[in-house]
Amino acid sequence: MSTTFVPPTTPLPVRQPRTLPIEVRVASPRRQLPEGELGFGRVFAEHMFSMEWTPDGWRDAKVQPYGPLSLDPAAAVLHYGQELFEGFKAYRGHDGVVRTYRLSRHCRRLAEGAARLCMPAPDPDFFEEAVRTLLRVDRDWVPSAPGTSLYVRPTLIACEPFLGVRPAEKYLFFIISSPVGAYYAEGLNPVRIWVEKKQVRAPRNGLGAVKAGANYAAGLQAAYAAKQRGYAQVLWLDANEHKYLEEVGTMNVFVRIDDELVTPPLEGSILAGVTRDSVLALAREWGLKVSERAISIDEVQAAHARGALREMFGSGTAAVISPIGELGFGDTQLAINGGRIGEWSQRFYDELTGIQYGRRPDPFGWTRALD
Ligand SMILES: *Cc1c(COP(=O)(O)O)cnc(C)c1O
Repeated sequence: MSTTFVPPTTPLPVRQPRTLPIEVRVASPRRQLPEGELGFGRVFAEHMFSMEWTPDGWRDAKVQPYGPLSLDPAAAVLHYGQELFEGFKAYRGHDGVVRTYRLSRHCRRLAEGAARLCMPAPDPDFFEEAVRTLLRVDRDWVPSAPGTSLYVRPTLIACEPFLGVRPAEKYLFFIISSPVGAYYAEGLNPVRIWVEKKQVRAPRNGLGAVKAGANYAAGLQAAYAAKQRGYAQVLWLDANEHKYLEEVGTMNVFVRIDDELVTPPLEGSILAGVTRDSVLALAREWGLKVSERAISIDEVQAAHARGALREMFGSGTAAVISPIGELGFGDTQLAINGGRIGEWSQRFYDELTGIQYGRRPDPFGWTRALD
């Protein structure tokens, strides 16, 4: 675990104006679900943004009523998985203000990931403007009950109808959004996690550092098997030695050993989570001892054995912080902090959600109100 991963920063040369005019076609209002029944990702706001790319550049940027895509059955994405996406939220505060959280970082991440998949990236500033345009049109779809939000899902797909294997020459970029319920209806709930020692999510320098749908397909079988055994998700280990912690489910992972907060380094198999980065920034701000370093499952077990494994949690946009109450390895189970949420986990959760909903000061300038 020694080489340093350099994320791709040079997207394909794209002849494109930095911005395009965005045409807006408004739908007639639809009835909304009661906020208590939202769940996650089942209902969608009324509008979507889309634009197309051909070798001449991007065109046809528009906001239109949400609806099915028309796609050629030979579209490259359906055969070779040339696809990536983003995920972030818009939050409505008690003050009624709708805020985005570290939006420009998400837009930049999609552009960087697109390069790895040989796809043209939308200009990050224009991407951000497209999100804000869509959010203004669907402002009423940002729910207001505590813990609810509007989850935004930008997606870039290869749609050239061609069965040869090479980067496609036609792409569709679209943004949809979904009002989602509170992730924790009854307070933060520590989950049981299965330590997966056989299957892997992503090898180093594969697609693991990119938010590609392909990584999720790779993870389905082990996650399903873990659920059958009564676990919420799997803890992924590295693809070479099946030894070092990588991620937990589709979240980044943090371990507190004594008073050191440890998270695996970004070396080409782990996604650079925006929540991960936020936790690290807060921890450093608070003067905690923070290490981005390789951490093996043996080290976690040894720390548990001597009573030093204080907390473990996943971090990601959907749950913000997901405390881990137990690790399972077949016959062995390790309870963490007696299955209760740890002190730091709770503090990160309270601070991050406080900033997102505008209840707490935002010294890093992470949020931006929708005008
Ligand atoms: C999206 C994602 C995360 C979390 O990233 P955030 O930016 O914090 O939402 C972590 N791991 C994987 C594999 C992901 O796809």
